[in-house]
Amino acid sequence: MAKSYDVIIIGAGPAGMTAALYASRANLSVLLLDRGIYGGQMNNTAAIENYPGFKSVLGPDLAKDMYDSATQFGAEYAYGSVESVTDNGDVKVVKTDSETFEAKAIIIGTGSEYRKLGVPGEDTYGGRGVSYCAVCDGAFFKNKHVVVIGGGDSAIEEGTYLTQLVDKVTVIHRRDQLRAQQILQDRAFANPKMEFVWNSNVTEIVGDDKKVTGVKVNNNKTGEDSEIAVDGVFIYVGINPITEPFGNLGITDENGWILTDDHMATKVPGIFAVGDVRKKDLRQVATAVGEGGTAGQGVYNYITALNDKVKN
Ligand code: NAP
Repeated sequence: MAKSYDVIIIGAGPAGMTAALYASRANLSVLLLDRGIYGGQMNNTAAIENYPGFKSVLGPDLAKDMYDSATQFGAEYAYGSVESVTDNGDVKVVKTDSETFEAKAIIIGTGSEYRKLGVPGEDTYGGRGVSYCAVCDGAFFKNKHVVVIGGGDSAIEEGTYLTQLVDKVTVIHRRDQLRAQQILQDRAFANPKMEFVWNSNVTEIVGDDKKVTGVKVNNNKTGEDSEIAVDGVFIYVGINPITEPFGNLGITDENGWILTDDHMATKVPGIFAVGDVRKKDLRQVATAVGEGGTAGQGVYNYITALNDKVKN
């Protein structure tokens, strides 16, 4: 028989872990599932300096502290790559790659993943010079020249981090203005190791039989093509939601982001969503944590009403 819980939380990022803390502290039985290590995107972040209480904290350290909080009231944590969630009304069925569980309520906190650029050479040189994680791979490029593609918070924050390791970071952006927060822009423009190539698209990543050697670039204002010699390419051109297992529930918008109300409830009773996977404007650890708390309280209210219904 499938093991049963009050709540199954899918995804152990800051949102999911906070939901686990709130729900288990409210005496609900909680299973927190993740297909990797807890922490989510925090594990790919060197310094988090906009989470209150910490002037600056290493992402993996904050992840560990949050995990300790999340599990202190009995929430169970388990590995599981969720393949489907079925809504049978008062009971939801969660199938992972190896097990089946049941729960009265589900909280989805699966987050997002970095989008691919979609140019020739990107897949060929994956792990051989092309990366989506500066914290994971930056050290391979000590004293070398890398490019960062994109102009958002991720590109500029991770690019700035890379300057601590490499000789030079060239940011290639398709417009002449960055999208990143002003404080990140100010820091990047003041950094002598950072250079900017504006109004330009990378059209191909080139290399030899071992690794990346350069990028082909097209200036979209002048039409001019050029090639920049580089050792590494870090791609930060946006994010996609991780919602494939939930397509059958009809809770996403046309781009796959999950739609919720202010209580983090989706239109399916008993299914909630939190963190980066939601359709929203601001994706931060601080907002994820707030949503986790809201959903933890939301499932408590939902399950209390469900239990009352069963009794009467
Ligand atoms: P993002 O904000 O969507 O930025 C993506 C960047 O890539 C944009 O500059 C965009 O250009 C560019 N881009 C998109 N498609 C492209 C393509 N095909 N070719 C070339 N460039 C392309 O994504 P993100 O920076 O990964 O951030 C994701 C979310 O996490 C955001 O909500 C962000 O605020 C948040 N975040 C916050 C922090 C922080 O607070 N410290 C750190 C990291 C991320 P355009 O500007 O022209 O559209």
